[in-house]
Amino acid sequence: MLEHAVVIAGGGPAGMMLAAELALAKVDVALVERRPDHVLAGARAGGVHARTIEVLDQRGVADRFLAEGRAVQVATFGTTVLDMSDFPTRHPYTLAIFQNHIERILAAWIAELPVRVYYGSEVTGFTQDDAGVDIERSGGEPLRARYLVGCDGGRSVIRKGAGIDFPGWEATRSNLIAEVETTEELPAGPRFDSVGVHGLHRMEDGRTVRVVTTEREIGPSTEPTLVDLSEALIAVFGTDFGVHNPTWISRFTDMTRQAAAYRAGRVLLAGDSAHVHYPAGGQGVSLGVQDAVNLGWKLAQVVDGTSPETLLDTYHAERHPVAARALQYTMAQTALQRQDDRIKAVDAVLSELVVMDEPRKQLAGRISGLDIRYDLGDGHPLLGRRMPDLDLVTADGPVRVFECLHDARPVLLNFGAPRRFDTAVRVLDASYEGEWELPVLGAVTAPEAVLIRPDGYVVWAGGPGLPDALSRWFGEPAG
Ligand SMILES: Cc1cc2nc3c(=O)[nH]c(=O)nc-3n(C[C@H](O)[C@H](O)[C@H](O)COP(=O)(O)OP(=O)(O)OC[C@H]3O[C@@H](n4cnc5c(N)ncnc54)[C@H](O)[C@@H]3O)c2cc1C
Repeated sequence: MLEHAVVIAGGGPAGMMLAAELALAKVDVALVERRPDHVLAGARAGGVHARTIEVLDQRGVADRFLAEGRAVQVATFGTTVLDMSDFPTRHPYTLAIFQNHIERILAAWIAELPVRVYYGSEVTGFTQDDAGVDIERSGGEPLRARYLVGCDGGRSVIRKGAGIDFPGWEATRSNLIAEVETTEELPAGPRFDSVGVHGLHRMEDGRTVRVVTTEREIGPSTEPTLVDLSEALIAVFGTDFGVHNPTWISRFTDMTRQAAAYRAGRVLLAGDSAHVHYPAGGQGVSLGVQDAVNLGWKLAQVVDGTSPETLLDTYHAERHPVAARALQYTMAQTALQRQDDRIKAVDAVLSELVVMDEPRKQLAGRISGLDIRYDLGDGHPLLGRRMPDLDLVTADGPVRVFECLHDARPVLLNFGAPRRFDTAVRVLDASYEGEWELPVLGAVTAPEAVLIRPDGYVVWAGGPGLPDALSRWFGEPAG
């Protein structure tokens, strides 16, 4: 039996991000992925939102994604695009980049890190005891780990094996998605009708066409065929545009569910294994990557004995409400995409409101993930919020805040007169001249110092309480 500190089942975006986080924290981590390699059959998701680009920036790898993607304003409510280019972030946009490219870049990154990847191997079951988890898998000998994380997608074997409930809402609609070739001219832009959204879009190779169409009836759970696609297109457009030579045809629904618990003993869930929803709004990859960044350092500290196991409970406490809000947004989006005359009227009324400054910022903050505030109690407005990527001046020269987080370690930034803090956490004396401005919230008072977690969230922002924050989050004796 092979042993690792942590085994991750599933090497999609959530699993690979978590593997990177654990490897950066020097945890012996293995990833078990049933595909023979990282290659995805289709392009799948179309991009990631601003906070996800920021967390990649916090690890020094955002440029790899930016080099291959395109900055676009596509955060949408109803059919209204909410421009967020005025948000105070280096990345006030959505990055359009297909999931197959996201996964290729993530796979190349984890190949540079000490991550053991078992491709072509499927986790089939597990049993946990007081000290660890025994993991059964195809294509190799069993594994033993202190913790097992299910990043194995919506049909998660890990979630089911752990007996975690997955309450939510059954599907009310299904869509076909495909990559094909066509022989006829394509319609410009998507079409909305009383069934849902339909569109054909030529991809960057100039030959492949990505098709998404909503089916009139919820389709069966069997794999869809080219004939199904052709019939669905004819029902909407009166033609199937000569679709042929498919490389990928799949069906997805608006089934919306969320795991009742993100942890059962030594087993945790992240990404789609913890929440599934309709892809309207493009939330899935971003949620999974941010789950991973929230969980990674906590799990690392529990594994190396820095923190008690109770630190893991903050993972559910913080991330469950974030996904619940995202699920609510996607359900609203699904309803607004069914454009019969009455929903069109709702959409038209809303479109006048949501472009107004305050609602636009609220909604764009929610879609982008830039408004996240983990409930860490009352205090300075930065508490529980993302640390802005300020341009700092230090004794060693200029540095960005996010650069200080590249090694996934906590940082205590001191903006007052240089002083000694009684802590093993890295302390950096710095100055910053500009305004402290947060997305949605606006300007906040400059704190004298901030304690930042490895995931970029502030857990103390001056005043009393530093020893408690250090002991609560980083296992240091309160003194
Ligand atoms: C048509 C469509 C469009 C979408 N558009 C967007 C979008 O624009 N933006 C966005 O953010 N999201 C979008 N999504 C959602 C997004 O694709 C998912 O939310 C995302 O892939 C979830 O990542 P994950 O890592 O949690 O799970 P997955 O990507 O599902 O990865 C799970 C991995 O686990 C592996 N696996 C499964 N079971 C096992 C097992 N037992 N053992 C070992 N390995 C296993 C699988 O092979 C897979 O690699 C879309 C989804 C669909 C279907």
